[in-house]
Amino acid sequence: MKSLRSPMSPPDTTPAPETCNGLQTERPPVNATGGEIAAQAEAALLAAISGGQPTLPDGPSTGRPVVQAPGMVQSVNLFDLMNPDGDHTAPASALRSIRIPSSGVFVIPFTADAVRVSAHYCDDPDVNDWVLCWGSPEECALCAISRKAEQRLLLPVFDCEQGEVGVLAMSSLMRPKALAPQVFQAIAEASRRGPQIISITKPDQMSFSVASWSIPPGVDDGRTAIAKFVQDREQGLVRLDSVYLTLPNETLRALPQVARKLALRGLA
Ligand SMILES: [Zn+2]
Repeated sequence: MKSLRSPMSPPDTTPAPETCNGLQTERPPVNATGGEIAAQAEAALLAAISGGQPTLPDGPSTGRPVVQAPGMVQSVNLFDLMNPDGDHTAPASALRSIRIPSSGVFVIPFTADAVRVSAHYCDDPDVNDWVLCWGSPEECALCAISRKAEQRLLLPVFDCEQGEVGVLAMSSLMRPKALAPQVFQAIAEASRRGPQIISITKPDQMSFSVASWSIPPGVDDGRTAIAKFVQDREQGLVRLDSVYLTLPNETLRALPQVARKLALRGLA
């Protein structure tokens, strides 16, 4: 298990819907160009809209030596957000969550394949971070104290300023100023205009602003880092949900705020 990290941004939206069942679209080929990926993502979107049959991708095999929140990680395609698929067996990685400061970030999307996880934002001073949910009040102390879990989408993108692939964490809510639908639009745009740089800014705590344009000449398009990531992901060496903490339930129960509330509920 990884150690606790420094604070990150608070939740960007209100809690997401509890259930989302339906289709899972096929993943784009791993070495496709941005344009090819976007074109296939668009085809997947069309298939989803038209009610095409799902193709369920195989999750990478596990070798992960850390505690896993069972059943809480799902592969999803951003073009088929109502259609999760279980993908919770890959080993750990050292991926970094991309923070969005007020000055914004620049990223290059290269896939529409995200994972969906159920997570709590734990504001206990010892944590101050997202923690994967264990799935039920019996197994998850944060659920037991009625701290609502959110459905979060984790999308790998190339972080232009860091020069590496990172994970964009988004609410799965599809309201207009939320991040996911705007990123979705930008990826769709890439299907028409080729690989795009996306700028993401945060005008306020509750909304995001996304703009995109073609990658200027001479700018690193991330192809080397992306190819490495894609290869690692294929081999099960990276997992997107590693950007969130996985804390054993006993650890959650021992957090001062949580322990106090469990005691008040007679659950200590
Ligand atoms: Zn929970």
